[in-house]
Amino acid sequence: MSFQIDYQREVLYGVLQRISPSISKIKPNLKEYWICSIDPKNSKKVLSLIKSRFQRTTDELRHLKRVCKENEDGNIVLSILLCPVDGDYTENEISDLLKDVTQQNDVKITKKCIPMNKPFDKEINLEWSKKFWPLLWKGNPLVQDLNEIYKNMNIQKVQSYMDQVTKLSLKEEGENPIVTIFVDPSSDEIKSVVVDKRTSKDIIKHSVIDGIAEIAARELQLRQERKIQDKKANNYLCLNYHVYTTHEPCTMCAMALVHSRISQLVYLKPSIKTGGIGKNSGHGEMIHLSCALNWKFEAFQYIDKEMFVSVKDVDSELYV
Ligand SMILES: [Zn+2]
Repeated sequence: MSFQIDYQREVLYGVLQRISPSISKIKPNLKEYWICSIDPKNSKKVLSLIKSRFQRTTDELRHLKRVCKENEDGNIVLSILLCPVDGDYTENEISDLLKDVTQQNDVKITKKCIPMNKPFDKEINLEWSKKFWPLLWKGNPLVQDLNEIYKNMNIQKVQSYMDQVTKLSLKEEGENPIVTIFVDPSSDEIKSVVVDKRTSKDIIKHSVIDGIAEIAARELQLRQERKIQDKKANNYLCLNYHVYTTHEPCTMCAMALVHSRISQLVYLKPSIKTGGIGKNSGHGEMIHLSCALNWKFEAFQYIDKEMFVSVKDVDSELYV
């Protein structure tokens, strides 16, 4: 099966330009981990300790070697990645666990910063391996990422929602024909359709903010009608929703999308001066991928010339 993916430009189906950082700008996203150095004869015991106590760290460490052989003054020792420093166990608890399983009183544990992301280049992979901790190289992760996104993308749906925001924008006679649609992809249900209605008195009525507010109001009403608290209800308003919009959102709206936990944003027109998403927009924050935030989402610019020309530009200084 051949995929309609341009790996060089990161374009899917010829119309979806993925917004991701330049490969040369990818920096290691470091996290402190506890590491122990042990006699190789104890490796099985420590690995089974990891399995029983620290198993949930396995996923985030798939790109790293868990165990690495080191030569300390002619003696071979094994360094093993245990768990995050800010995790569930204190240094003393980890020492006690290790003493218990190895019967060794002198197990050395230290802190080390390790990269939680994968570089997209073999050379950088080697560089980070030397500098931080040995990384595995299983081929270019960018190719794997794009294949994964492609397999989960329903291009007909994307096209149909982009058609809808475009048509609604064309009908708008106001100054800012900015239209945003929120969709729950699990049910293909539209959760909100908003046209920018800001006024000089209410300047933060951006379409994204209004969309989230509408979804929040409905959720509140539903919860009040139910009268009892559903403990299983998710507390993120737009968890994994898809958002389609005519103009690239500003930093405030991009942050609101992060906080409400959407999984995908598609926009038509970039906001070069004020946008919070594009590689060359605003201050290049690319909020949807910021390492400092605890949620990320995929973002794409929809590159369709006809639509692009038909939707009106807004003032380049306007925070969409
Ligand atoms: Zn905004």
